[in-house]
Amino acid sequence: MKLATKIIIGLILGAIVGLILNLVSPDLFKTLNTFLFTPLGKIFLNLINMLVVPIVFFSITLGVAGLGDPKKLGRIGFKTITFFLVTTAIAIVIGLTLSSVIQPGNIGTFDTAGAEFEAGEAPSTAETLLNIIPTNPIKAFAEGNMLQIIAFSIFVGFGITMLGKKASTLLTVVEQGNDLMMYLVNLVMKFAPYGTFGLIATAVGSQGYSAIKAMGLYMIVVVLALVIHAVVTYGSAVFFLAKYNPFTFFKKFSPAMSVAFSTSSSNATLPVSMETAQKELKVPESISSFVQPLGATINMDGTAIMQGVATIFIAQVYGVSLTPIELVTVVLTAVLASIGTAGVPGVGLILLAMVLNSVGLPVAGIGLILGIDRLLDMARTAINITGDAACALIVSETEKKHMNTKEANL
Ligand code: ASP
Repeated sequence: MKLATKIIIGLILGAIVGLILNLVSPDLFKTLNTFLFTPLGKIFLNLINMLVVPIVFFSITLGVAGLGDPKKLGRIGFKTITFFLVTTAIAIVIGLTLSSVIQPGNIGTFDTAGAEFEAGEAPSTAETLLNIIPTNPIKAFAEGNMLQIIAFSIFVGFGITMLGKKASTLLTVVEQGNDLMMYLVNLVMKFAPYGTFGLIATAVGSQGYSAIKAMGLYMIVVVLALVIHAVVTYGSAVFFLAKYNPFTFFKKFSPAMSVAFSTSSSNATLPVSMETAQKELKVPESISSFVQPLGATINMDGTAIMQGVATIFIAQVYGVSLTPIELVTVVLTAVLASIGTAGVPGVGLILLAMVLNSVGLPVAGIGLILGIDRLLDMARTAINITGDAACALIVSETEKKHMNTKEANL
């Protein structure tokens, strides 16, 4: 049986087991969760998290060294950032439109008096972007600060290219380091079906179903917006810009989406999503290793959708109607908030406070969606990483064309 099939079976079995135990025997769930589900999930998470930092370093360094020409890096960088920004803005507009039409906050009753949320200190997006250059790379590695590791790796890759022959040994070390990491990803992925099973069983088994019932319509709107964004935005982008069959794209990328779904973390899924893009979608290593780590850190369309829907939902619950100017403010701040969201579980909700503040909505409203956010986090993370893969595929296909025209001109 193919690994991809095994992972999907693990995911479905985990959901069924979690659901049945939750409904039939919460006590048995607790015991199994402590001794089986949580350890399985934790082992898998640790295994893949162990590989994230070295993979990002080796693959970006190699990718930049492999691109050779700084102009090419600039062109790929420009395409990537443009794709990220445009798709994120589209994502928010889809979220805002659906929630304004379906009005999940106007149907049912919500206890606003009991809603509480303490907005913790989240670094501002400006601060994150300004700190992109690490003053101490070792610290960046130790803290797993993705943007800083990306910046440092780009410098190292560039330096290796510039030094040419003098740095040939270093280039070999980076090449072999990268091969080693990819080998380890393959090895670790053998455990993925069991890890996915454990993670999903824990997530589904620990849900309070009364909260889900109360928030059902809100959840449906978020999921619907995620599906529309994936099918329409990514589907047509892949079809028109990369001339690639969208069904094949989703089918081939589904193992990575399943891992994102179970881990709720773009960062943790990075090793798998890069491997899947390179092996299955045939995206060249040099492009995948630049676009996907960057995307896992700053491109969060699923998160942006949740932030858009949640803002309108909270406005409806509190009986506030937003003016067109305020809606534009929501789009702009949600783009920034999703860029500032780190690729780890739950951070998108914390950054939602920034969006609510920008239009004067009560941050306590986050308390209403807190209970069910874990489930939505799974779905939005799957979309977050799919956007990065779609971008990598489109950049690689358009780069091919670029090469062809250039070659044709010669
Ligand atoms: N869990 C999401 C991710 O890692 C971020 C979020 O929306 O909380 O992509």
